[in-house]
Amino acid sequence: MTELSERVLRLKPSSTLAVTTTARELREQGYDVVSFGAGEPDFNTPENIVEAGCQALRQGKARYENVAGTPAARQAVADYFKSRFNRDITPANVIISTGAKHALYLAFMALMNPGQELLLPSPYWVSYPAQAQLAGGTVKEIPGSLENNFKITPDQLEEAITPNSKVLMLCSPSNPAGVVYSRQELEAIAEVVLRHPNLMVFADEIYERLVYGPEEFTSFATLSPEIAQRTVTFNGVSKSYAMTGWRVGYAVAEEPIIKAMTKLQGHMTSSITACTMPAMIEALTGPQDAVNSMVKQFAQRAARIYDLMKAIPGIKCARPTGAFYILPDISALFGKKDADGKDLNSAAEFAQSLLRHKYVAVVPGEDFGAPNHIRLSFATSMEQIDKGLQRLAEFVAELQP
Ligand code: PMP
Ligand code: GLU
Repeated sequence: MTELSERVLRLKPSSTLAVTTTARELREQGYDVVSFGAGEPDFNTPENIVEAGCQALRQGKARYENVAGTPAARQAVADYFKSRFNRDITPANVIISTGAKHALYLAFMALMNPGQELLLPSPYWVSYPAQAQLAGGTVKEIPGSLENNFKITPDQLEEAITPNSKVLMLCSPSNPAGVVYSRQELEAIAEVVLRHPNLMVFADEIYERLVYGPEEFTSFATLSPEIAQRTVTFNGVSKSYAMTGWRVGYAVAEEPIIKAMTKLQGHMTSSITACTMPAMIEALTGPQDAVNSMVKQFAQRAARIYDLMKAIPGIKCARPTGAFYILPDISALFGKKDADGKDLNSAAEFAQSLLRHKYVAVVPGEDFGAPNHIRLSFATSMEQIDKGLQRLAEFVAELQP
């Protein structure tokens, strides 16, 4: 067997997707697994969107499209930004990609030179450091804490910035902590960013619709025209419209950045799958009642999982106010023994033992930069939440000193 590239040897597989695969495999073997693994809505894509995709196929939308997306799809994003954020952009500010994940990768590849730094507030989504490193960048973590609801402060940011800092990652509502930055908090961060002309901000706003209060969502680039010039905004239809498998996301930025990303995309994937663009347009511009009903259900689930979680002795956690994740701190349980007498000394060992003994799949926090935590996605039914949390409570109660 030939040697693999160093690039790929250094890379860790995505732990969110790995947990989900294990849970799926166990289920296929007949085990009754409760999966809080990958963050994807359990709802079906709304029927009007499915119909738009099917119709597009029947109408022959089965050929290559413009690399950055059809004019209509880019216009739909521009219209969405106007109606939702009152932000004026043109289709030339938009690239449609294979999920926000690929849009992010293109942005790292387009903007980062080897040796430049990604400033990464932790905990963070697992793919950010991997993508920055693939672009040759280095990663500097800015640690968040439970006490500050996992949000970074302007002082922390100022202290972290060096002449090599190229990108600050901001994810609000956040994966994996489920927290939302207020407008004032973002304004304070923006002030620091404006003092450092080489620093760009990647604002990952894919969970923008999934907010349950008290903070309202603020799109970072809307803070001022100067900040808009310094921001690449990422969004998509995966989470809000239950379309994770369609693989449709997009980025919004200054035109030269979009052109650079388009050049890369032209050599990587070409346009996204042709028939998915009319479906995306229907999602963004069609009736929104399905989203509103899903958001309501996510809010109820957020409240329920938080109540059940905080009732478990030894577990601490913040209330999720956005996205569909909860990130409990389980470190007080480290050092205890499971039913096999095995010491649980890390989040990874805790998660493995929980899956083995109770068939509950959670993602250990190590790859999110949160080694004292586990992450649960509550994009699953109330019934599964009740069942899974009951099993988690039993698991914790059965641990031995
Ligand atoms: N950003 C964050 C924070 C996410 O959790 C996800 C989930 N996969 C993505 C981006 C990418 O989503 P997608 O590629 O499905 O658009
Ligand atoms: N973003 C989701 C998660 O964090 C889906 C899996 C992935 O793409 O990482 O679980």
